[in-house]
Amino acid sequence: MMKPLFEVKSIDRKFYEKRLRDWLPDKIIDIHTHIWLKTFEKRKGPGMKARTVSWPSMVADQNSVEDIVETYELMFPGKSVTPLIFASLSGPKYFDAANDYVRRSSQKHEFPALIFSDPRWDASDLERRIQKNCFLGIKSYLTMSPVYLPTAEIRIFDYFPRHQLELMNRHGWIVMLHIPRDGRLRDPVNLAQMLEIEERYPDLQLIIAHVGRAYCPEDIGNAFKVLAKTKKMCFDISANTNAVAFQRLLETVGPRRVLFGSDMPILRMRTRRICENGVYINLVPKGLYGDVSGDSHMREVEGSAAEKLTFFMYEELAAFQRAARAVGLARADIKDVFFNNADRIIRNARQGRKNK
Ligand SMILES: [Zn+2]
Repeated sequence: MMKPLFEVKSIDRKFYEKRLRDWLPDKIIDIHTHIWLKTFEKRKGPGMKARTVSWPSMVADQNSVEDIVETYELMFPGKSVTPLIFASLSGPKYFDAANDYVRRSSQKHEFPALIFSDPRWDASDLERRIQKNCFLGIKSYLTMSPVYLPTAEIRIFDYFPRHQLELMNRHGWIVMLHIPRDGRLRDPVNLAQMLEIEERYPDLQLIIAHVGRAYCPEDIGNAFKVLAKTKKMCFDISANTNAVAFQRLLETVGPRRVLFGSDMPILRMRTRRICENGVYINLVPKGLYGDVSGDSHMREVEGSAAEKLTFFMYEELAAFQRAARAVGLARADIKDVFFNNADRIIRNARQGRKNK
């Protein structure tokens, strides 16, 4: 038998059986996953320096489509999980190869997919790339913004320019948005531009990734007061274990606008996330992810503290479960978050592709 992709320990199995298996629906859509091969992984292009955190690359050096299928089998036995796939950040030389790998994987496994977009593409170029390859929308990242911009000053429209948003709006396509800036969800520039997108481009399908990176209670500020005015934008809970943010989100926008997402492969990580003075720290077993001393978001633990750690994935789900119970979500609401909402968004995007 082939060695599994990663070890599932009895503590993981117990966590899943006791707390998650019966609570999760049988059919799940994971709206936020990255696939890439290590041959594309040349992150040294211009603009890539110092704009990202380093710990995600310690978890996996690649995530093939076969790996993601195996990940679900190992983590969610008995469930059927369909990912929405897109590339990870790759150097300029490998940009097209990375998108092409996503296209091929999408066609082979019939998984829905987004193109990793470059803000320099004009609208007709982007439209052609999407239609030719059956993508359903765009995912990009702040590192794609012009190189002269200091990281702290990057705004959403620097990597999702208006001409591209207009195109997404015209077709009803998906925009997967990882918001920039140190203030994260509470940042007033982010909030203003999120609202502006909803107002000016009402027909695109906006997904705010990671609940706007509100990983610690301090990242929330007055965001949910502002977001109470919104009617459409959706939020994925990927790579977030902040039950307070999940609860406020559910209270503010309701379960029809919340989506399950993982951010695989990093959710394979064995970790529990804590916050200290508003900064998140991933507690990891000593030695498991190599030398973590250079990353302030990583801290090693040993002995029984390390033995108790399960997957980041399960911690995210447990946090969402706490929030769901606190606001009294019904079984049908849980099914919406884990399947129906994403299914609706994907169908709409497919419909858009057919009509135009
Ligand atoms: Zn992601």
